[in-house]
Amino acid sequence: MIERTLVLIKPDGIYRALIGKIIAQFEDAGLKVVALRIGRVDKEFAGKHYAEVIEWLENIGAKSKLAYKEKGIELKEENIEIGRRVRNQLLDYLANGPIVSMVLEGNHAIYIARKIIGVTEPRKADPSSIRGKYASDSYDLADARQRSTKNLVHASEDSESAKREIELWFTKNEIVSYKRSDEDIMYE
Ligand code: ADP
Ligand code: MG
Repeated sequence: MIERTLVLIKPDGIYRALIGKIIAQFEDAGLKVVALRIGRVDKEFAGKHYAEVIEWLENIGAKSKLAYKEKGIELKEENIEIGRRVRNQLLDYLANGPIVSMVLEGNHAIYIARKIIGVTEPRKADPSSIRGKYASDSYDLADARQRSTKNLVHASEDSESAKREIELWFTKNEIVSYKRSDEDIMYE
């Protein structure tokens, strides 16, 4: 089941000179880079990438509340309010630094890329994942600094968002087609 997914290396990954190491994790797992760019985007473009979807905003709030609850702190804010605040911080962050964007292709690329990046909060991410191996940030530190969580990477969540995000970041002729030398071994 060959799929494509969109992966971003956020500004913290670039400032920390992790571009090569991050891409290597995906390549090592069999995913193929079929489009790649480094550049900057404005807040409007970042806002298109992280579109204002109510369920997603609620989910951000819920995840944040759960993390605080585990520390014995009860957040009073509504989930959606937390989501809106985090989204705004995230858009500011992305619009103020360099970003590497890429399309990865391979068997179950969407699921595999999500597995390789790890869960959203680096503090909780498995140490073998990108976020767990190269970062330690937490929701409470991000809140204290009034910024979004520095978790290095983004990867599309499902096939619908992968399609939408790939079309947002790349035109059809920026995506190339070629064969990896190990494809027959992996896929036959
Ligand atoms: P993921 O990137 O794992 O898919 P989400 O889609 O829920 O996570 O959130 C998008 C991004 O917003 C996260 O990668 C992270 O940078 C930031 N973020 C999410 N929740 C919080 C939070 N509670 N505090 C600060 N930043 C957050
Ligand atoms: Mg997401």
